[in-house]
Amino acid sequence: MNKLNLYNKNFINDYLKQNKIELRKNLGQNFVIDKNLIDTLLSTADLTIHDTVIEIGAGMGSLTAELLKTGARVIAVEIDNRLIELLKHHFGHDPNFVLIEGDILRKNTMDKLKQYLPADRSIKVIANVPYYITSPILTLLLSSDIFFSDIIITIQKEVAQRITASAGTKKYSAISVFINYYGYARIIETFSPASFFPNPKVFSSILRIKIYDKKPVVSNHPKYFHYFVKLCFTERRKMIKNSILNILKSWNVDKNGFDYKNCFEKLSIDTAARPETFNVKQFIGLADAFRTVCPSNIKKKYD
Ligand code: SAH
Repeated sequence: MNKLNLYNKNFINDYLKQNKIELRKNLGQNFVIDKNLIDTLLSTADLTIHDTVIEIGAGMGSLTAELLKTGARVIAVEIDNRLIELLKHHFGHDPNFVLIEGDILRKNTMDKLKQYLPADRSIKVIANVPYYITSPILTLLLSSDIFFSDIIITIQKEVAQRITASAGTKKYSAISVFINYYGYARIIETFSPASFFPNPKVFSSILRIKIYDKKPVVSNHPKYFHYFVKLCFTERRKMIKNSILNILKSWNVDKNGFDYKNCFEKLSIDTAARPETFNVKQFIGLADAFRTVCPSNIKKKYD
């Protein structure tokens, strides 16, 4: 088969036609055609032969090809069996390449993937992920028992801005707190729709999450903590005191059972404060205190 020229729109168009592949919008199929974007991902990742890379949504393989050139081991996941055939054809001979067909969000795909993960190598996620599932992918990766050192992904610009927002700013949200619990996130560079084919409607940013070797603050009930953060952000502009009292009421829990004043004081939270100003430590402290008065069926759900 002909040599791949994945930075050229016309080549991709012809190639897809030859292989009778019509792109599926609902799978977020926008392929990178900008070498500069791929170079930026690679220079951020700083790969060596000692690294194992997980690539989610390999597509036609424009990133895969460059990842393999570094000598790192590449484990690619792709849902579309038509693209799987192309990927097998072009990279299947490389001993450093593992291809997993499946939906990254399904348990059996993750189980397969885990079989290939070495215990003694650094594991990095590097990908232009399908945007429609950015948050579920991040939730899945970070709450799994796999230890990643880095997650470097291209995502929609607005989502990247929310993830990296600081406490007290307008864009600060549940996902900022969630990510910040696991690591330090920053935007490396932003790219226009012209970097992809077909052009998406949105701008894209490369986001790097450097996972903490040791978390600065640890929650003993991470699931409950994430649930609580989401709950708080549904009323981000309201005073936390009022939101909490309302939630207790909706649960039929006696509000006097929760000494919020004492709890706020310990966490240096003002009684008029709004959740959009809390840092991770304050959210964890508040979630732990709130958990003690939470009905057991809800507590169980987030254990
Ligand atoms: N990384 C490639 C392709 C990006 S497009 C590039 O840089 O060009 C996103 C890719 O993710 C598509 O190939 C799509 O088929 C795949 N994909 C979409 N949903 C997926 C899922 N749930 N699990 C695995 N792959 C998925």
